[in-house]
Amino acid sequence: NLYLKALEMYGFKSFADKIRLEFNPGITAIVGPNGSGKSNIADAVRWVLGEQSAKVLRGSKMEDVIFAGSDRRKPLGIAEVSITIDNSSGFLPVDYSEVTITRRVFRSGESEYYLNKTNCRLKDINELLMDTGIGKEGYSIIGQGKIEEILSVKSEDRRHIFEEVAGIVKYKSRKEEAEKK
Ligand code: ATP
Ligand code: MG
Repeated sequence: NLYLKALEMYGFKSFADKIRLEFNPGITAIVGPNGSGKSNIADAVRWVLGEQSAKVLRGSKMEDVIFAGSDRRKPLGIAEVSITIDNSSGFLPVDYSEVTITRRVFRSGESEYYLNKTNCRLKDINELLMDTGIGKEGYSIIGQGKIEEILSVKSEDRRHIFEEVAGIVKYKSRKEEAEKK
């Protein structure tokens, strides 16, 4: 039902040319030599879902996600990643059978986000993906060392992980919002 249909990248890390990867339901494995960009693909998914930490993206500053140039190519001034999620089952609470999330960043800093090509805030994306397991804290991306981390965290944090997976975080956050008023 809910799956990642496509990933498009332009100027993201080693992907200087525009590239579109299409996925089918089921398992996809990405193989390639060391340094060929496999982990950069996982970083692109994290980044487009709103990752704010350059360190998580294996850089030292956010600008490091922009293609830095090579001996034959000039650096680029912009990085852009889009993911398209199949929503034909209506799992996401929007009237679209496909949802495309786009993030763009310029060397000057600030990121721009888009939902189906319409400019939006990161908050809108977070709300859309809350409790779906897709968001950047959604445990849909399990990085190296993450399993150990999940097993070793404090019990309250572990509880939060299970609440996210169970899909009740949105009710908790609405309750908290309501209590603030
Ligand atoms: P391994 O099998 O060793 O894990 P990998 O396929 O996961 O390798 P990645 O870590 O995805 O490889 O890619 C690393 C490559 O990406 C390096 O060659 C690095 O120079 C390049 N790279 C990272 N950021 C940028 C950037 N901003 N501009 C250009 N190239 C970049
Ligand atoms: Mg790797």
